Amino acid sequence: MASFSPRRTKIVATIGPASSTPEKVRQLVDAGMDAARLNLSHGTHDDHAARAKLVRDVQEEVGRPLALIGDLQGPKFRVGGLPQPLALAQGEEVTVVVGDGARNGELPIAPTAIGEVLQPGHEVLIDDGMIRLRVEEVESGRARCGIVVGGVVTSQKGVNLPGVPIPIPSLTRKDLEDLEFALGLGCDFIALSFVRSAADVRDLKALVEQEGSNAHVIAKIEKAEAVDALDDVLEETDAVMVARGDLGVEIGAALVPLVQKRIIATALERGKPVITATQMLESMVHHPEPTRAEASDVANAILDGTSAVMLSGETAMGEYPVQAVQTMDRIACAVEPSLGYRHQIPEATEDPTIGNAMSNAACDLAEALGAKAMLVPTFTGRTASAVARLRPRRPILALTHKLWSVNQMAIEWGVTPIWIPECKDVEDLWNRSLDAAKEAGVVESGDTVVITAGTAVNIPGSTNVIKVDVV
Ligand code: PEP
Repeated sequence: MASFSPRRTKIVATIGPASSTPEKVRQLVDAGMDAARLNLSHGTHDDHAARAKLVRDVQEEVGRPLALIGDLQGPKFRVGGLPQPLALAQGEEVTVVVGDGARNGELPIAPTAIGEVLQPGHEVLIDDGMIRLRVEEVESGRARCGIVVGGVVTSQKGVNLPGVPIPIPSLTRKDLEDLEFALGLGCDFIALSFVRSAADVRDLKALVEQEGSNAHVIAKIEKAEAVDALDDVLEETDAVMVARGDLGVEIGAALVPLVQKRIIATALERGKPVITATQMLESMVHHPEPTRAEASDVANAILDGTSAVMLSGETAMGEYPVQAVQTMDRIACAVEPSLGYRHQIPEATEDPTIGNAMSNAACDLAEALGAKAMLVPTFTGRTASAVARLRPRRPILALTHKLWSVNQMAIEWGVTPIWIPECKDVEDLWNRSLDAAKEAGVVESGDTVVITAGTAVNIPGSTNVIKVDVV
C-alpha cells in the first residue's frame, strides 16, 4: 500500500550516533524523513551497516519508499592523529608537517600530497574555516604558518586550501573501499564529495556500473572548480547537492547564497534532483526550536526550487533529531503553497528532448483541466523528474516495477513513488497506474488524471503518449 504525503519537498536526514536505534529511526520516518544519509567520512563500516539495517527494517515495517545515501569522503586533507588537542593562538606561529613525524606542538596534515602544493601565501583553513593559517615558508615537508584566526585543533578535523588545485584522485583508496561497502549495503545513491569536473562523476558512474549496481550518483558541489563546471557536471550526474559546509569554506560564506540559487536553478532546468545541505537547522543540535533565520533559510531553499533539504549534525548527533525533521516538515508545508507552476513551452531551437516536451505538454494539460493528479509510469524515474522540474500543482504519482527506482524517486520533489508489477502492454500499464492511484487514496471516482508514459512499456526513455482519463 503506497502512502501519500501532501508535502512536496523531500527531507534527507543523516543517521549517526544520535539516531541509531530502531525507535529513533522509526520516529524520523514518522516525522517525514524521505532519505537516510550515511556519512562515510565518520564511523566504521560496522556502524554504517547497523544503521542501514535499521533504516531498511523500518522501511519494511512502514512500507514507504526511502532512499539510502552513502556519502563518500572524497579527496580531502585532514589533521593527522594528535596526542592531545592543540591550542593555536592568534598572532603566533605553528609548523604544519606533511604526513607523519610531527613533534609536540606541530600540526600533522595528511595525505602527504599536500606537500606538493603548499606555497607561501596560501591559506590553510581548519575545521570548516574556524581556524585560519597563512603559509609563510615551506621547506622539506614543513610549512611555517602564521595563525590568523586561532582555536583548538583536534585529530581528523578537515583542512581546506581554497583555490588550490588538489593533487589527489577524486576517489581515494578509502573511497574505493567505502564505495564497495556502500554498494554492498544496497545504497540507492552514492554521493561524491569535492567533485572538480564531469570526469570525476563519469569515473564513479563507471565503477558503480562495473559493480552491477543501479545506484545513482549525487555530485556534491563544494569547490569553485565544480561551480565553474556546473553545466558539464549536471550533464553527467544523476543528482546534485549544494554542500554548503565545504562550499562556504572554499568560496567564502558571502558567495554561497547566490551560488546556491544558481545550482538549484540549473539543476531544475536539467530535471535533476537537487539537495540543499548543511547548517539548515544548526541550532537544533542543542535546542528544540530553530532560529528565525534558520526557518527562513529552509523556506528560501524551497522557494529557490530545491528538491530536498538535508539535515546533518542535527539528526546525526544532535539532541533533537526528531524535532529537526518535524520542523523541516512544518516549514515546507507552510511555504509550498506559494511555489508557482513553472509553465514552459520549449521552442524547436532549444532542441528539447521528446521526454521534456511531453512533460511540458502533460503539465499544461493537467493545469488546464484542473486534474487531480499526474500519473507517470516510469522505468528509471527520468520521466518523473522531467515532470517534477515544472513543479506542477498536482500530486505526481510515479509508477515503476523497479524497487531501486522507487527508492531513488523518494528524493524527487513532489513525487510519490509507487511500485507496480511489470506490465505486459500499455493498456495494462494505464489500468494498473489508475488502480495504484486509487489505492493510494489520491484519486477517486469522477476525478480527472493526466497520464504520460511510453507505448513501449518497460523500455527506459520511451515516453511518447499523454492520456487524459476520468477515473
Ligand atoms: C558539506 O560540506 O556541506 C557537506 C554536505 O559535506 P560533508 O558533510 O561531508 O562535509
